[in-house]
Amino acid sequence: MAGERERLKLLIATHNRGKARELVRELEGALFDLLTLADLNISQDVEETGQTLEENARLKATTYAGLFGLWTLADDSGLEVEALGGEPGPRSRRYAGDDATDPERIRFLLKRLEGVQPAKRRARFRSVIAIVSPEGEVYTCEGTCEGEIALTPLGTGGFGYDPVFFIPELGKTMAELSLEEKNQVSHRGKAARKAAEALKSLDREFNRSLQRE
Ligand code: IMP
Repeated sequence: MAGERERLKLLIATHNRGKARELVRELEGALFDLLTLADLNISQDVEETGQTLEENARLKATTYAGLFGLWTLADDSGLEVEALGGEPGPRSRRYAGDDATDPERIRFLLKRLEGVQPAKRRARFRSVIAIVSPEGEVYTCEGTCEGEIALTPLGTGGFGYDPVFFIPELGKTMAELSLEEKNQVSHRGKAARKAAEALKSLDREFNRSLQRE
């Protein structure tokens, strides 16, 4: 009915449980009702054929929005290691092979960095979030987090490369942070806070258009 506020549903389109947990925690106050692929029992995957994080984030969000007709948010993220010329970047998940586990990816990365001194192990996590409307309009935002690749893994929290991503200002790896602490400083937490702002204005626009109907 005209004038009545309607809550939109937003699909958090990732099969990565670690990412879903972080995104839901950061976005749960952002006016939208959040749904995950797991909530909807969706097992379809999207092949990441883009060359950049932005292309892949857009591809994932657009594909799931098209399939389910929902507002959809997807993150594509990666680790950029200076001594490796910015690798693995968008290939972070597949760096050690398509079916590698997190510990295997970490072992592979540490092997590539064997003999590289601590001062030369600078790295950055980058996350690009794409939000797509059911009509296919796309909004993107980005967050980064600076750190170093540790010599050995430490900590049990988070996922992916977290046990070897050392943050000098905190004196800890990302895997030693709680979910809230990680979101405070992480690439994804920063991108998600920008996404939350975008969602608030999208929600206002949507409700204004309802009032005009
Ligand atoms: P994709 O975005 O699904 O292509 O996967 C990105 C990959 O980068 C993940 O599978 C992880 O290996 C790594 N990655 C992205 N964000 C994080 C993070 O917050 N912590 C640790 N590893 C991450």
